[in-house]
This record gives sequence, structure tokens and C-alpha cells, in this order.
Amino acid sequence: MRYFAPTTVEEAVGLLAEAPGRKVFAGATDVIPQMRAGRPEPDGLVDLKHIDRLVGVRKTATGWVIGAATPTSQLTGNAELSAEFPGLCEGAGLIGSDQVQNRSSLGGNLCNASPAADSVPAMVVNAMRAVIASGGGTRTVAVQDVPTGPGRTTLAPGEFVIEFELDSAPANTGDAYLRLIPRTEMDIAVVGAAARITLDASGTVTAAALALGAVAPTVVRVADAESALVGKAIDDDVLAAVAAAASAACNPIDDKRGTITYRRHVAGVLAKRAVTIAAERARNRASGTPSTNGGSH
Ligand SMILES: Cc1cc2nc3c(=O)[nH]c(=O)nc-3n(C[C@H](O)[C@H](O)[C@H](O)COP(=O)(O)OP(=O)(O)OC[C@H]3O[C@@H](n4cnc5c(N)ncnc54)[C@H](O)[C@@H]3O)c2cc1C
Repeated sequence: MRYFAPTTVEEAVGLLAEAPGRKVFAGATDVIPQMRAGRPEPDGLVDLKHIDRLVGVRKTATGWVIGAATPTSQLTGNAELSAEFPGLCEGAGLIGSDQVQNRSSLGGNLCNASPAADSVPAMVVNAMRAVIASGGGTRTVAVQDVPTGPGRTTLAPGEFVIEFELDSAPANTGDAYLRLIPRTEMDIAVVGAAARITLDASGTVTAAALALGAVAPTVVRVADAESALVGKAIDDDVLAAVAAAASAACNPIDDKRGTITYRRHVAGVLAKRAVTIAAERARNRASGTPSTNGGSH
């Protein structure tokens, strides 16, 4: 198998166009274990980490641009990004171990298309966009429109993600990501829940987004929970409605990590907690108080 290390997007596009059996990689923390487990080797591996545009976290006038091959440790290590988007950084910071996070990327986590990918629910609630390159130029799509099922994406052959765009969050906005795993670390989520909440000065929710991972073939956006939140102050009744909507939105599998009934229940519990933490962070950001980290649950 051949290895290629292009240094520009154009060179990578050309290498992929030359031979349809070639595959891109960033950290290879999915690609290498999958080949070792018996998946067919591609004709060639195209390493994206030598292309400057694909590696790095950049603040812009309107938000952030995160290179698709940036090691996730660069997200958690960025104090300004972590303060503005603690939930996104929690998702990135739960991928494997420190060693894995020095390699793993958001592009790989999204395009590997595991339903349990930890960074994707928080990318979805933050309305992140993927900029995709191919021989025809670039196109930009919502992150949630990339995976279509386990191991499947809407990327055409020869296409790859260059970077992610993330708009600045209003000051009174907070996000959070929580997951449940059977062990304390290094396991796949039984359920993941990401929430983003915007409050007005009186504590009323003006915008809400809730997304669940590991409970369906792709990340599930819980529209009924979002509409139960908007226009209300968050209280026990609203949180009960959020939990019920999250449990109802699931379409989980039954496996060694949890039954369908268990996953539905946990989805409701984590949804409620993620909303509560996101709202607390929204209040703290509005008042200038630093956020606490929700971590792994
Ligand atoms: C020990 C261990 C623990 C792990 N724990 C977790 C965990 O807790 N949570 C979790 O979510 N994941 C976990 N993973 C899986 C993996 O680390 C993540 O999915 C990671 O984000 C993949 O990123 P990568 O850059 O290494 O992807 P790669 O392995 O380089 O690529 C993965 C897939 O995405 C494609 N791809 C990569 N970059 C792009 C791009 N820019 N455009 C288009 N396609 C692309 C590749 O072709 C490949 O199909 C773990 C892996 C290991 C080995």
C-alpha cells in the first residue's frame, strides 16, 4: 500500500482523483485499528496532516475555523475556544486517551460515521458547517448532513473535509456534552447528549438545541425538547418534558453496552443534565463567571 503526504489541498485532490481506491486519513486512530481488524486496505493512504490549512484552530471576525485534521488536544488546549464552547471541547476531550487525542481529529470523528462519535452531537447543536473539497472546488454543508448511517457519509468519492466553520456564540449562550460509558474511560458511549441554550436577561430560553448520540444510526436532533424549552424559564416541569422528548426520539440498538429500554432512559437523564449545565453556563457567560467542566458521566 502506498502512503502520500500532500502539502496542499489541490495536491490531495489530485492524488484522490488519480486512483479511486485511495483513502484520506488524519490521525488514523480509526483507520489503523480497522485495517488491523481485517478491513480491506485501501490502494493508498493520503495523509491530510501535512496540509497547513487542515491543521489549526483559528479565530475569525465572526467565529472560528477548525482545520479538519487538527488533533483534538488542540481544541481542549485552546482556552478561548474552551471558554466559548465548553461542550464542543468536552466532546473532543472524551475521545480515547491523551495519546489518542494528540492524533484524533474532528474530521475523522465525523467521517468515520460512528453513531457514538463523541464530538458530533456538540458540533450539531453548535450548527457547525463542514467545508468539503473535491476536483470541482469546495462546498459547505451542515455537519449533521455528513453522516448517513454507521460508516456511511454523503461525501462523494474524492471529496474530503478541509475545515469546520463555527459562528461565535452570543454572550448569554452555553453548551454542554455528557456521555455514559460502562467504564470510567476508553469506551464507546452508550448514550451521548449535547445541549446548547441561549437565555434572555430574565432567564427565559430564547434558543435551544439538543442532540443525542449512540441512540440511532446518526445523531438525533430532539425538536420536541427544543420547543418545550423555548419561551420558558427552565424548571422541573420543563426538564421532565425535555427528558420525555429525548427518550421518545431514540431509536437505539440492543447490545452488550445496554438494552433499548436502558438507552432510552439514559437518554432522558443525560438530556436533562446537559440542558441544565448548558443553561448554567449561559448564565455564567452572561455574568462573566468561568464555566465548570461537565466531563464524562
Ligand atoms: C483507543 C481508542 C479509543 C477511542 N475512543 C473514542 C471515544 O471515546 N470516542 C470517540 O468518538 N471515538 C473514539 N475513538 C475513535 C477515534 O479516535 C475517533 O473517531 C477520532 O476522532 C478519529 O479521528 P482520526 O483523525 O484519527 O480519524 P482517521 O482514522 O484518520 O479517519 C477516520 C475515517 O474518517 C475519514 N477521514 C478522516 N479525515 C477526513 C477528512 N478530513 N475528510 C473526509 N474523511 C476523513 C478516513 O478516511 C476514515 O474513514 C477511539 C479510538 C481508539 C484507537
